[in-house]
Amino acid sequence: MTAGGAGPARGKVWLVGAGPGDPGLLTLRGARALAQCDALVYDYLASAPIVNLAPPDCEKIYVGKKAGRHTLSQDEITALIVRLGRDGKKVVRLKGGDVFVFARGGEEAAALAEAGVPFEIVPGITSAIAAPAYAGIPVTHRDHNTAFTIATGHEDPTKGFSSLDFAKLANRRATTILLMAMGRLADIVGELRAHGLDGDTPVGIVHEGTKPSQRVVTATLDTIVAEAERSGIGAPAVVVIGDVVRERDRLRWFDAQPLFGKRVLVTRPAHQADDFAVALWEAGAEPIVAPTIAVGPPDDPALARDAVARVREYDWVAFTSRNGVDAFFDALTELGRDARAFGDVRIAAIGPKTAGALARRGIRVDLIPSEFVNEAVAAELLARTSSGDRVLVFRAQEAREVLPDTLRAHGRTVDVVAAYRTRFVDDPGLRAKAECVDIVTFTSASTVAGFAHNVHDAPGLLAGKTVAAIGPVTAAAAREAGIRVDVVAAEFTVDGLLAALAERSVV
Ligand code: SAH
Repeated sequence: MTAGGAGPARGKVWLVGAGPGDPGLLTLRGARALAQCDALVYDYLASAPIVNLAPPDCEKIYVGKKAGRHTLSQDEITALIVRLGRDGKKVVRLKGGDVFVFARGGEEAAALAEAGVPFEIVPGITSAIAAPAYAGIPVTHRDHNTAFTIATGHEDPTKGFSSLDFAKLANRRATTILLMAMGRLADIVGELRAHGLDGDTPVGIVHEGTKPSQRVVTATLDTIVAEAERSGIGAPAVVVIGDVVRERDRLRWFDAQPLFGKRVLVTRPAHQADDFAVALWEAGAEPIVAPTIAVGPPDDPALARDAVARVREYDWVAFTSRNGVDAFFDALTELGRDARAFGDVRIAAIGPKTAGALARRGIRVDLIPSEFVNEAVAAELLARTSSGDRVLVFRAQEAREVLPDTLRAHGRTVDVVAAYRTRFVDDPGLRAKAECVDIVTFTSASTVAGFAHNVHDAPGLLAGKTVAAIGPVTAAAAREAGIRVDVVAAEFTVDGLLAALAERSVV
C-alpha cells in the first residue's frame, strides 16, 4: 500500500473520500486520518463539518475545482501534495465522494508513488450511489436491472464525447448513472433515443444529494430535458436512467422528513452544539451553529473547589446541568481526587444529559425527576429528604432560586455554589446568520439573553421565523424578551426539541 523512498522526514499522504456531502457519511478511517493531519488539501465538494475535523493548527488549503473555476490546476494540486509529503507533513487530500470515482485520485496516487511519498487510500461513499439512495432510488433492484454503469457526461475534452458507448447504455435492463452530465443532458438523451432506448424510460436527477439542499426531478427520457429546464435544476447532480427511478415513489425518505431542508440556528455553547448539529444533519436539516453564550469559571472558583472538597458532608448533591458536572470533576481533578470523593452522598440530576455526564464518570444518579426542570427536582428531592438534611446545589452562578428556596422553605439546609458562569459571546455576525435561517432554537434562558445581547431588535428579526424553546422556562425567558415562541419541547432535551419541531412540521 505504501510506496518506498527515503528521506529525513517521513511524511505521508492520505487520499480520503469525504463522501457525497452528508458529513455522517465519512468513514471512520477517514475521520481518524483527518484528526491527525498537519495539512489538509480540499476542494468544494468537501462539507464544512468534515473539514472542521482537522485539528485547529492544521494548515488548510482550499484548491477549489468547481467546473470552470479551478483555483489550482490538477498538476499544481498533485505537485502540492507531493511537496507537502516530502516536507515530512501528514497530509490529507480530501475529495468529494470516492477518491477513485472521477476524481483523479489515481493520478495523485501515481505521483506520490513515483516521488516515494508513502500514501494510503481511504475510499469514500460515491455520490453515484449515495445521491440516488437519498432520493429513494436503489441502483439495483431485482425487478428492474442486473447491472448499472457509472459514466461521466463531461469527458476529457481531448478524447471527445463520442467515446461513451451509447449502443451499450441504451439498454433498459442496465441502469445508467451519469456524473457531470448536466451540461450535456440534451445530447446524451438524444444519443440514447437514437440508439433505441424507450422514450418512457424513467430518468431521475438528484442535485446536491444527501444534503439539506438536495433537489430531485424525475421524468422520462422524452420529457427530462424540458423538466430539468423548467425546474432550473443544475450541477452538481447525478442523473439516473432506468426503471429503478420509479422506486422513488415508494422509497422516498430523506427529503420527506419534516425538517428536511430547514436551516436551524443553534445558539447553545459551542462545546454542546455538536450533538445537536449531528441530530439536525440526520433529520435532513442544516445546522447553523452560532453560540450566544460560553461557559467559564465563576467569579470565585475557590468557593466551588471548597464545596467539592467537602462534598461528603452533604446528604445530597443536585446537578442542574452538564456544565455543573464538568466543573465538579475539573475541581476534583485539581484537588488530586476522583469520584470516590462522593462516598455515599446521594446525587440528583435534572435530566438525562446531566445524568449521562455523571454516568460517563462512573456515577449512577439516585434521582432524575420526571420533568426536567428545577421545580421537579425540588419536589422530588423534598420527597426523598427530611428536615435538616443537607443539600449542595452545584449550578450556574446566575440561576433561578426556585430549587434552593423550595428546599429551605421545608427546613432543608442548602448550600448553593456557583460552579460556572455563562458569559455572552460577542458575535457581530449573529444577525446575518439569524436572518438566513428558518428556525431559531433556544436551549436555555441564557441563550435567549445572549441572543438579545447581540441582536438588538430580536423580536422583530424573529417575527418571521419559527422559534423553538427547549422547555417552559426558556420559553418564558424568550417571551419576556418580547420574542414569540412557536414550539416548546414536551421533553426538555435537544432530542425532545427536535421531536417537537418535527411534529409541528414547520412551514
Ligand atoms: N468522486 C466523486 C465524483 C467527483 S466528479 C464521487 O465519487 O462522488 C463531480 C461530480 O460528482 C459532480 O459533477 C456531480 O455529478 C457528482 N456529485 C458529487 N457530489 C454530488 C452530490 N452530493 N449530489 C449529486 N451529485 C454529486
